[in-house]
Amino acid sequence: MTITATTEDRLLADVPSGLLVNGVWRPATGGETFTVIDPATGASLAEVADGTPADGIAALDAADDAAAGWAATPPRKRAEILRRAFDLTIEHTDDLALLMTMEMGKPLAEARGEVTYGAEFLRWFSEEAVRISGRYGLNPEGTGTTIVSHRPVGPCFLITPWNFPLAMLTRKIGPALAAGCTVVVKPAELTPLTSLYFAGLLLEAGVPAGVVNVVTTTDASGVSSAIMADPRLRKVSFTGSTAVGKILLKQAADNVLRTSMELGGNAPFVVFDDADIDKAVDGAMLAKFRNIGEACTAANRFFVQKGVADEFAAKLTARVEALGIGRGTDDGVSIGPLINEAAVSKSADLVADATSRGASVLTGGSAIDGPGTFFAPTVLSGIVPGTRLLREEIFGPVAAIATFDTEEDGVRLANDTEFGLIAYAYTTDLARGHRLMASLRAGMLGLNAGVVSNASAPFGGVKSSGLGREGGLEGIHEYLDTTYTMLPAS
Ligand code: ADP
Repeated sequence: MTITATTEDRLLADVPSGLLVNGVWRPATGGETFTVIDPATGASLAEVADGTPADGIAALDAADDAAAGWAATPPRKRAEILRRAFDLTIEHTDDLALLMTMEMGKPLAEARGEVTYGAEFLRWFSEEAVRISGRYGLNPEGTGTTIVSHRPVGPCFLITPWNFPLAMLTRKIGPALAAGCTVVVKPAELTPLTSLYFAGLLLEAGVPAGVVNVVTTTDASGVSSAIMADPRLRKVSFTGSTAVGKILLKQAADNVLRTSMELGGNAPFVVFDDADIDKAVDGAMLAKFRNIGEACTAANRFFVQKGVADEFAAKLTARVEALGIGRGTDDGVSIGPLINEAAVSKSADLVADATSRGASVLTGGSAIDGPGTFFAPTVLSGIVPGTRLLREEIFGPVAAIATFDTEEDGVRLANDTEFGLIAYAYTTDLARGHRLMASLRAGMLGLNAGVVSNASAPFGGVKSSGLGREGGLEGIHEYLDTTYTMLPAS
């Protein structure tokens, strides 16, 4: 498909610009709006409603009013609506992908991949909606029957980030709707257009009024605090930074809310001497440079065993030097802009800190002049303990390589972090691979794999990377309460 300015303008004209409350698009109270920017050019894309705390409460009113009706809707009907939403999402792949590229910056091919991946949560959970089962059994004493069942937790608040504008939303909406919960969505203010367009598809799919409400706002803290303080809310599901996750966990304590938290990562990518180095480099390109490095699953720290360190660094550098940089709509681009100036400064600061401690820049290493907020894809070697990017999430296209001697050292370095979302390891030794499954402390492991995300698998972290799981058989239980009935033996 050739993308022209006309294609883009036509698409932008189709995106709703209001708040979705109780099935109706409407302006924010007071009529305020904010501007959405294209990070590749700095140009304004659209104006959308800037919701207030009162708008947030109006959305919760609608979600609460719709809750009983949606919970009582037969699972098959909920499943069919979700399945229709899957079909519509796939039918609108071109539009959704282009919107994501325009407002977030990722290359168009990756944006299309996100539509496929994101839509899959709608199909997966449409299939799960009809399989919410319980348990029935005699208790050990033989004095009664135990009946275990599940019911929707109630109105949910879903807060999503800007880096995967569609998939982070479908990962929450799919299981919430399948379980019978109604929701208020607050998309990231940097990328609201994809969510607004997608919400339109949900209405077209037959999602009843009030079941999904969307509040865009630049006042994330104000809108969120109002919703979190309302006792009708029963659950918050958040994807974003650990700092904001901690604020929400504290707020959640007041009303003892159910919480799902997909927070920051600091993924180690460990390459052993016995690894297939070409495959490890393929995996590294995906784990580090997919989504311009702006992923919580992005490899943040490369630990390479000494015997293969030079070969790995040279091969990785050659691949990185061949990456096309530009606006994600242009042919041959695999590195788009970072989301904003702050992201560029952060990558620049982390590289400066590493080089000040003796790291070598093998390629890249600096920001690229505007327009747009670009940072050159970078490989650093000779990273030493104490370097900031071993502790901080880079969220940019910077690969930082350190070396290690033994398996024990590699594992110790990999685990030396407060985070635990994902680890990557490359080895051809089966016994070692098996040991790593136990020794690497993360919620997910890519064993000779640079991408692990799949709707059928439980995505989530341990330690400061979060609580709960999205996807898999586990995902729907984040939106279900377990209840138990004791029936005495007669
Ligand atoms: P990032 O640093 O990657 O932008 P954030 O954690 O700041 O990640 O943002 C993720 C989401 O959290 C966005 O939708 C943002 O608007 C929202 N957010 C930011 N601050 C708050 C807050 N105090 N309460 C609730 N949501 C917030």
